[in-house]
Amino acid sequence: MAEETPINSTRPVRAAIVALVRNSDLFGLRLAIRQIEDRFNRKFQYPYIFVNDEPFTEEFKQGVRDLTRARVDFGLLDEESWTVPKWIDKARYAEVKRTAKYPHGEKDSYRKMCRFQSGFLHKHPLLADLEYYWRIEPDVEYFCDIDYDPFLFMRQNGIKYGWNIAMTEFMDTVATLWNTTMAFAQENPQMIAKRSMRNWLVDANGAYNGCHFWSNFEIVDLSFYRSAEYQMYFDYLDRAGGFFYERWGDAPVHSIAAALLLDASQVHYFSDIGYFHPSVLSCPADARTRSSCVCDSDSSFVQNGLCTVRFKEERHHALFPDAKHEAVH
Ligand code: GDP
Ligand code: MN
Repeated sequence: MAEETPINSTRPVRAAIVALVRNSDLFGLRLAIRQIEDRFNRKFQYPYIFVNDEPFTEEFKQGVRDLTRARVDFGLLDEESWTVPKWIDKARYAEVKRTAKYPHGEKDSYRKMCRFQSGFLHKHPLLADLEYYWRIEPDVEYFCDIDYDPFLFMRQNGIKYGWNIAMTEFMDTVATLWNTTMAFAQENPQMIAKRSMRNWLVDANGAYNGCHFWSNFEIVDLSFYRSAEYQMYFDYLDRAGGFFYERWGDAPVHSIAAALLLDASQVHYFSDIGYFHPSVLSCPADARTRSSCVCDSDSSFVQNGLCTVRFKEERHHALFPDAKHEAVH
């Protein structure tokens, strides 16, 4: 994708900390905000934006505002962005929900949530002026001070997608996601980046290996999700119906899009940010020598996990194809 932003600009970044949440998430969200404030935002004062498929209660709004001096906006979703689209076959979908064996397999709301985060969050009117967002969720924790501005870091380095945890997916939830993606890629070959992270996604047989970034943490240059390429990809997936006939997550959808549509240099691993989402902890390797950190890097298996290690290798290979056998750090 073309670079639209002047890289060395020091003008303030139009960015916000964003989440889709329910009223019942108040206490988990307060935990997350308190940590984001302590570790980062007390210094930087980025605004927050929370959206919900139901109106937020006054108790919720007050409970959030009590924790920050930054601006907080609360929004509601429109009908189209939180629905089972009319082209979904109701009988087929009902049968899927009845028989699905994976987590949240019986739920409408979880599927609507994944579809919303995949295709609509970045289009919400409250986000219209933003260049970047940082997604948070209830119950996430931040273990170390973040002394620099990740948004500015991303702009200065031309990064479009920043992640912190990479994992493999429950494959039954994405049974046809890869084949659907490959059909899209065949119809739109010019959209696939020359130096893409495609190899990070495939196993030795060319099938999807399930690797994806956990999108409960993602810092994104929204020009990526607003691009015609991403929009066409999302629409193609939405039409295929897998958000409902399976349970495609916004995490694999965002990840596959980032790995195929972006240049490998535009995807960044924030390994220095200590982060927890139930039940996975990512603790920086140097946490013991950073006085602000309160996590144990020895218990952070995800930083050495398969998808993380392969990300580093494949990114290196994509960017330096002639240096295949060098060690990757
Ligand atoms: P998990 O991380 O995959 O286990 O999913 P979560 O239950 O944490 O949901 C992901 C995000 O979507 C969280 O921020 C939730 O608060 C939010 N979410 C999930 N379901 C709903 C829903 O039905 N309504 C609203 N408003 N938010 C939801
Ligand atoms: Mn969650």
